[in-house]
Amino acid sequence: MYRKDLINALLDHPTGISELARAFGLGEREMAGELEHLRQSFRNEPYRLVVHPATCRKCGFTFDRDRLTKPAKCPRCWSTWIQEPRIGVEQT
Ligand SMILES: [Zn+2]
Repeated sequence: MYRKDLINALLDHPTGISELARAFGLGEREMAGELEHLRQSFRNEPYRLVVHPATCRKCGFTFDRDRLTKPAKCPRCWSTWIQEPRIGVEQT
């Protein structure tokens, strides 16, 4: 994983976790781990990780913003029709 490539890919370009995982040749869980690392490493840098949380396409439920992987089911209506979270980087 090349940190700079990841930042460049995400800068002002929020991307779904599955697409990111594919692009970097990782599983979604691993990808989420890399993004967590990135988020922590930004503490002293002029960037921040922006998460557009997953939402239920059926009832509109919004998932926890901290969650980077795609949830399997909506806890409110049990639909599996979920819009996955998208993750981007912004300069602060
Ligand atoms: Zn729902």
